[in-house]
Amino acid sequence: MCRSKSLLSNNSNHGPVTAIEKSQSDKSEKLRETVDTGLYLYINKDAYGIVWRNVAIFLALHLITIYSTIVLFRDRSWNTWIFAYLYGFHGGLGVTAGAHRLWSHRSYKARLGLRIFLACCFSIAGQDDLLTWCRDHRVHHKYSETDSDPHNSRRGFFFAHVGWLLTRKHPQVIAKGKQLDLSDLMADPVVRFHKRFYPLCYVIFIVIIPCLIPIYFWNEKPLNAFLIAVVWRYVLSLHCTWFVNSAAHMWGDRPYRRTIGARENPFVSFAAFGEGFHNFHHTFPYDYSTSELGWKLNPTKVFIDLMAILGLAYDLKKVKPETIHRSKENQSNNNNTMMFNHQSRNTFEHNNHY
Ligand SMILES: [Zn+2]
Ligand SMILES: [Zn+2]
Repeated sequence: MCRSKSLLSNNSNHGPVTAIEKSQSDKSEKLRETVDTGLYLYINKDAYGIVWRNVAIFLALHLITIYSTIVLFRDRSWNTWIFAYLYGFHGGLGVTAGAHRLWSHRSYKARLGLRIFLACCFSIAGQDDLLTWCRDHRVHHKYSETDSDPHNSRRGFFFAHVGWLLTRKHPQVIAKGKQLDLSDLMADPVVRFHKRFYPLCYVIFIVIIPCLIPIYFWNEKPLNAFLIAVVWRYVLSLHCTWFVNSAAHMWGDRPYRRTIGARENPFVSFAAFGEGFHNFHHTFPYDYSTSELGWKLNPTKVFIDLMAILGLAYDLKKVKPETIHRSKENQSNNNNTMMFNHQSRNTFEHNNHY
């Protein structure tokens, strides 16, 4: 089944909300509520078809991961497994505390030393260069659940999870990405360096370091080091991130704004270091903690708080409790909800948050 048009429009008004705007937005929000969220295949082989090279790579990686799991239990390579987990944990922090909360959303500021550390950690995750990741994520926030969203969850779980990496980008994703102002990212030498030397970073942090450490420190077999600390760790960490785009946009509560696709999903928070509080995050994207629950299921917040104590992170942005309270209250009243969404969006745009 194909559906060629997105039903959603994106509001970019900055002024006060007029009655006409409110009525138009009411209509748009109703469409959001009623639109079918079933499988949404959107493939045009000429414009944005399947990228078979990526299909082959990801298929091979997953087959090797299955074999790696067998090797792990057969050879009882527990030291390498523990190392793979700890190494992957750093990669996860590079994504959550670095690419996501620091560079994409500017929800806090970091000293140069911490930015370099986070860029190294992000390289461990192997999820493209920082600039590309942040651009895609900003487009995702600005145009969630539309054709301009790189991993539009209305196209089904598989597409939002990994399918978007196996197909060419929808033309709208490319067009909207080009319109974004990324000057703040380009002004950061760490981001520029990562963009320029990404292939080198990839080889060093994804392959060489995780292979050498188990071989050098506990005489792991080179093949086992590669299978467990490189492939097994890499594929599992990718899925942890992908669940944010898929599961956290499909299953869970929406206490802060029920007219958007993003949801509160504790499983995703556990798997992705606190990134599953997604309804909160899409409602208040400038909040560095991405939830109102403190450190609960949120090791990324623990890390940023620790960095702040050490003086490496500062200017941590946090949404006011009364704003959260008002948001929740408004969910019980549709009329008030619409007004709040507009106010919230306008504030967000004025502050240039993503
Ligand atoms: Zn985000
Ligand atoms: Zn999202």
